[in-house]
Amino acid sequence: MSFSTLGLSEPILKAVTDLAYAEPTEIQKQAIPVVLSGKDLIAGAQTGTGKTASFVLPLLEMLNTDRKLRGKRIRALILTPTRELAVQVESSINQYSKYLELSSMAMYGGVDAAPHKQRLIWGVDIIVATPGRLLDMAHQRVLHFDELEVLVLDEADRMLDMGFIDDINKIIERLPKQRQNLLFSATISDDVRSLAKRAIHNPVEISIAQNSTSKPKIDQWLVTTDKGNKSALLSHLIKDLKWQQALIFIETKHGAAKLVSQLEKRGIQAESIHGGRTQAVREKILSDFKTGGIKFLVATGIAARGLDIGALERVVNYDLPDQVDDYIHRIGRTGRAGASGEAVSFVSKDNFRNLCAIESRLGHVIDRREIDGFPVKKVVPVSILNYVPKNKRTQK
Ligand code: AMP
Repeated sequence: MSFSTLGLSEPILKAVTDLAYAEPTEIQKQAIPVVLSGKDLIAGAQTGTGKTASFVLPLLEMLNTDRKLRGKRIRALILTPTRELAVQVESSINQYSKYLELSSMAMYGGVDAAPHKQRLIWGVDIIVATPGRLLDMAHQRVLHFDELEVLVLDEADRMLDMGFIDDINKIIERLPKQRQNLLFSATISDDVRSLAKRAIHNPVEISIAQNSTSKPKIDQWLVTTDKGNKSALLSHLIKDLKWQQALIFIETKHGAAKLVSQLEKRGIQAESIHGGRTQAVREKILSDFKTGGIKFLVATGIAARGLDIGALERVVNYDLPDQVDDYIHRIGRTGRAGASGEAVSFVSKDNFRNLCAIESRLGHVIDRREIDGFPVKKVVPVSILNYVPKNKRTQK
């Protein structure tokens, strides 16, 4: 199947051809016709499946009319959990709309609002925003929603995880009742469903099953380790396996700084991003990581949300995340759009329950590899699929 059969017009097809996309991904095949039909949509699709283009391409098609944009008005709103994702989605819009006359802007907190306000004076067709900054602009009346046609909630599960529910509700209250709603989420949890119930009407539901054709090729494996041994183990793996690149997830910003210095002591140059660093520093480090100037990037979960590093070879869960969804999201940073990738997790005994929960969700155990020279004192028990923690077991 080619993009030309999906009902997109020439300028959009040309932009897609410029990007050398050979054919639409599964989510694109399914979502584009639904969006073009004007229906509401709920789509279960992870990052890496091509989900951004699956809503941006038809959105551009629908907005490409001669309708005149009034000042302080917007026609489409894309809400994202993080500034990084907002920037990334807006840059995709720029690429896909390069032969169209549509305007777009990313709008997020933590930076001066004056340029955003300035751009809004003449109206903007598509705004990609984090919820807080968007509400702020609406409160200041520099932005009105009365001409809004489409609302997109991108990575809805993450927005809820990050506590944006009140802001999202307040935003939805301000939107015109007549609008098209699109919701994308890696996981369709009960919370996502209840948000969808309030915001979305009679949606078409699509879920991109993680079968062998759509699943990114990610080699997942783990090493069991004692907690105190992790930095030595990581250095060993980097050197012994000749790793050229890794995004390394860690729990705390203090831990991130410490790990960078431990790696440096072993002759491995690394950098860290976490909530404590300014936006400008984070952007600089990220762009150096993308271009290969930095090979090893240590990131806290929050700082790394929404990152698109393109062809990322490998993610390392230096600390295994508490939430299964976080694991799924993290490994989705690698193996994107057909490229193969690797996800390596360090698991210590106190991660056992989390490990079981992750493996139960995956539906298989993760391959355990032993590394010579790193014996484990506190042994991690053999995994149990469909493990139910004691406090959740039903009494018989
Ligand atoms: P996303 O899931 O939206 O984050 O997209 C993941 C990556 O896949 C991005 O780098 C896109 O540029 C790329 N991509 C999107 N659609 C296609 C396609 N049809 N063919 C090849 N790459 C694609």
